[in-house]
Amino acid sequence: MSDTPVNGATQAINTEVVIVGAGPCGLFQVFELGLLGISAHVVDSLQHAGGQCAELYPDKPIYDIPALPVCGAQELVDRLLQQIKPFKAQLHLGQEVSEFARADNGRFLIGTAAGTRFDAGAVVIAAGLGSFQPRRIGVEGAEAFEGGAIQYRIRNAARLAGKRLVIFGGGDSALDWTLELAAKAASLELVHRRAEFRAAPASVARMRELVAAGRMRLFEAVPQSLVVEGGALRGVNIRAADGAVSALAADQLLVFFGLHPKLGPIAEWGLALEKKALRVDPEKFQTSVPGVFAVGDINTYPGKKKLILSGFHEAALAAFAIQHHLYPQKKQFLQYTTTSPVMHQRLGVPD
Ligand SMILES: Cc1cc2nc3c(=O)[nH]c(=O)nc-3n(C[C@H](O)[C@H](O)[C@H](O)COP(=O)(O)OP(=O)(O)OC[C@H]3O[C@@H](n4cnc5c(N)ncnc54)[C@H](O)[C@@H]3O)c2cc1C
Repeated sequence: MSDTPVNGATQAINTEVVIVGAGPCGLFQVFELGLLGISAHVVDSLQHAGGQCAELYPDKPIYDIPALPVCGAQELVDRLLQQIKPFKAQLHLGQEVSEFARADNGRFLIGTAAGTRFDAGAVVIAAGLGSFQPRRIGVEGAEAFEGGAIQYRIRNAARLAGKRLVIFGGGDSALDWTLELAAKAASLELVHRRAEFRAAPASVARMRELVAAGRMRLFEAVPQSLVVEGGALRGVNIRAADGAVSALAADQLLVFFGLHPKLGPIAEWGLALEKKALRVDPEKFQTSVPGVFAVGDINTYPGKKKLILSGFHEAALAAFAIQHHLYPQKKQFLQYTTTSPVMHQRLGVPD
């Protein structure tokens, strides 16, 4: 399995199934399809697998996964990744699925914002609450600089060397980048709205040492407005809790206000929606378009509960429906992983 994003592919990747979303349900979908001998590619806009578990509560314990009395959320993701290893599904991370079209031959053409394209026999949407997007800086005129002088994600740290940097945020990303860039930047200022930080205490302590040593400055404030001259960003005005405004000179603003999920492009794909969820039948978990299935938090049907174990059940049934969609002539029968030689072969376990 590779977690390297496949960028710039010109040729569409031909596959049986594309799974949109590498949260717990998308990952378990790989497993259920794999047991039936069906391979899949998985795409996620996040840089890592695990969806909400990894992004929103990695260190929290989960108590309602069958047969695991307690399991950390990241541990669950790690276990799922381990479980799907035999099926060698390729993960395309850091790529939002933005294009979706049904071809005349009934197959699906799926495209990501990074340029990866798929030609798939079936699609499973396991997109949870939607694609995680960075929370934006929220000051007037910011759009013109986003992706340039205002960044929400650092793709090339080397380009920031020798620049005047202002970093916003109080979580791990803000602190990690502060520590990484403090020695390389011409100047570095960290701005956080309150005195307490969400980041690892050791990182916060190290940052405070840098402040004490005069290597960077720390402000308790929020962004107020941009300082722009001749169309170029020159700095940012920040406002403290008492209303005092300070101007910070900057070539580059790095904003780490966290991520929030957004249904995004999925709402435009012509699939029947109900309260921002994809309507499916509770037998196949198929959407209003034959060949397109939805599992996990993204779907809705009578009695739906947004729980991981519900999504696991949905993935199992969807796998059989997908098999029938792809190979309608094939006879279906239930096999147990305990006793099935063919499943043992697929799982790579000796008989
Ligand atoms: C604090 C908290 C505690 C919780 N505790 C529990 C618990 O104890 N037990 C329990 O059962 N559940 C719990 N849940 C709920 C559980 O996390 C969700 O039910 C589960 O994560 C749903 O999994 P999923 O795979 O459907 O979606 P998600 O985990 O939301 O993953 C969906 C993935 O799809 C990706 N995606 C979306 N759109 C696109 C796109 N267009 N292109 C590419 N990628 C896309 C997203 O980036 C995301 O990674 C908790 C949730 C929270 C927030």
